Amino acid sequence: MSDCIFCKIASGEIDSEAIYRDDEIIVIKDINPQAPVHLLVIPAKHYQDLTAPEFEAPLMGRLLAKASELGKRYGQENGFRVVINTGRLAGQTVGHVHFHVLSGRELQWPPG
Ligand code: 5GP
Ligand code: ZN
Repeated sequence: MSDCIFCKIASGEIDSEAIYRDDEIIVIKDINPQAPVHLLVIPAKHYQDLTAPEFEAPLMGRLLAKASELGKRYGQENGFRVVINTGRLAGQTVGHVHFHVLSGRELQWPPG
């Protein structure tokens, strides 16, 4: 999508220091971190959100596996949280699906 910030980051049109990149996935640090560790695991291809019909389980699984791997690496033994905000009421602000990985501080539950 031409006006999508995460498409531009994934394609390299906007510079970013990727934590990880392959043909399907890019991982970046959140620009406005909500915890000492706050990564975004993003599919290179555009999907509006988790419910997009063409966003299929194998890619979801690879994104979750990458979130798990990096959560474990950066959260170390202290744990981490993976969040997928979906739609306005959940606070989704970028319409390109992404998995937040949060760690490095005590996280409240339930979230606000
Ligand atoms: P959402 O609110 O949609 O679940 O999460 C979007 C996240 O993307 C927010 O945490 C926001 O700080 C982050 N974000 C928005 N624009 C950029 C950007 O240009 N670069 C990076 N690294 N993060 C961004
Ligand atoms: Zn996009």
